[in-house]
Amino acid sequence: MAQNIIAANWKMNNDEYSSKKLTYEFLKLLNRKNDPKTLKVLCVPHPFLLSIDNMCTGTESVFVGAQNCSSFKQGAFTGEVSAVMLKSLGIKYVIIGHSERRELFSETNEELLNKVLLSVERNISPIFCCGEPLIFRNKNNHLEYVINQLKETVLKLNKESFQKVIIAYEPVWAIGSGKTASNEEIEEMHVAIRKTIKQKFGSSVSKNTSILYGGSVNVFNAKEIFKINDVNGGLIGGASLQAQEFIDIVNSIS
Ligand code: PEP
Repeated sequence: MAQNIIAANWKMNNDEYSSKKLTYEFLKLLNRKNDPKTLKVLCVPHPFLLSIDNMCTGTESVFVGAQNCSSFKQGAFTGEVSAVMLKSLGIKYVIIGHSERRELFSETNEELLNKVLLSVERNISPIFCCGEPLIFRNKNNHLEYVINQLKETVLKLNKESFQKVIIAYEPVWAIGSGKTASNEEIEEMHVAIRKTIKQKFGSSVSKNTSILYGGSVNVFNAKEIFKINDVNGGLIGGASLQAQEFIDIVNSIS
């Protein structure tokens, strides 16, 4: 069965002090009722990976992840952070292909595939984001668009490597916008993604793949979203920056 996962994407928010404060408050609230069956992954800015990871050590089922890694293995790439570097810090998760990276930094599926390959090679699980811009949904091409994103990236992996991948379906128009996809829209996409995985890697791999939903998840809609068929958790942006709100979302999954 697919693992339930709630991942936080802090993006480029907070300094070191406020990151530690947020983590402290989150862990304090979590420790009152920590369900080890749900994995919690805090995807924090690179400079805080180690300090936040240290704070989380010892709390069951809580991990720290990165928000990006380089598509290059090593070398003269000023400012880049490689999968090898993340691995050397003990990091086990990395967000790859977030729509902000695709849009604002023009990341292509080809580059994203390289990032995925370099991560899985180091035993780091990519939280691989896919999702359609509004124009493709309006043209009713959303399923084709998202499946194609997957075919050009994670579905090119071999079966063993693919099993390290977590998928996050994030309709671009729902990210940070306050607009959530309807339950029907979420289910349609998640079912289609799982079916495609089944066609490529078989039913056992497809059943075990975690497919998260992301896009304006909050305390009010989380419970309903996590009940939807084929949804195994969420990738949470804005709402992960408040400890109480994030913990309420974490506790919405059963
Ligand atoms: C995200 O950035 O991955 C995200 C889902 O953001 P938000 O929850 O703010 O829409």
